[in-house]
Amino acid sequence: MTTPVIEIHDLHKSYGPLEVLKGVSVSAPKGSVISLIGSSGSGKSTLLRCCNLLEDSQSGEILFNGKPVRWTGEGLARRPSDRDQIRKIRTNLAMVFQQFNLWSHMTILQNVMEAPVQVLGESPALVEPRARALLAKVGIGDKADAFPAQLSGGQQQRAAIARALCMEPEALLFDEPTSALDPELQQEVVKVIKDLAAENRTMILVTHDMRLAADVSSHVIFLHQGRIEEEGAPEALFGAPKSERLQQFLSASMAH
Ligand code: ADP
Ligand code: MG
Repeated sequence: MTTPVIEIHDLHKSYGPLEVLKGVSVSAPKGSVISLIGSSGSGKSTLLRCCNLLEDSQSGEILFNGKPVRWTGEGLARRPSDRDQIRKIRTNLAMVFQQFNLWSHMTILQNVMEAPVQVLGESPALVEPRARALLAKVGIGDKADAFPAQLSGGQQQRAAIARALCMEPEALLFDEPTSALDPELQQEVVKVIKDLAAENRTMILVTHDMRLAADVSSHVIFLHQGRIEEEGAPEALFGAPKSERLQQFLSASMAH
């Protein structure tokens, strides 16, 4: 067994008195697609944000390529302590958000080049051809010089995916990448995500799109109120859900 890119053991996370993650464990082996499903408020975004240390957590371990995150302090005062490690994890787990989060004053090409140049310190001359190739790969090679407002939502989200890929991350973290899009625009983003899965990119995908989760996942996790209620292969989870809560969640999801 190779070392998973991301491993989380028994993670607990509270916002003040509200415990949002109540002992969650996740492993993302290299090349796997792990989907997180569950009702709004079940803790999916929080879990994703804990992975790349955008959120603190109070107990449990997070390992990146087998190396445990080093902490200082305990409980609500616990923080990651090693700046180099934090930076390594953040730059290697690129996030794609529901609302794209592109810089509106920069062109699409500038958006894609920004982090490799500013954060990784790569030379623009090296990054530009890579950025252009990624824009072509996601089907918007002709939009390099446009501004985000000139693009459809589906095009903006594909630009955001190109931006994440341009960091050459070890894994991609998607937080409901299609939820802000009209149904006909969702499919162009779904296609890009499926292509990435077919290339064996390591991904953790929070999604409301059960068909997408069923199609691309190696493993699906159903979160309910901060706990893993059920998990398994997509065929089992979607084909023969055991828990009554998951059955209810799936029938409500299929209804719209
Ligand atoms: P999901 O992504 O599954 O909809 P979230 O992880 O966003 O769920 O939220 C889980 C719970 O944590 C919810 O009850 C939400 O209200 C709460 N929560 C999320 N972010 C914060 C925050 N910054 N401060 C306080 N509570 C939060
Ligand atoms: Mg969320």
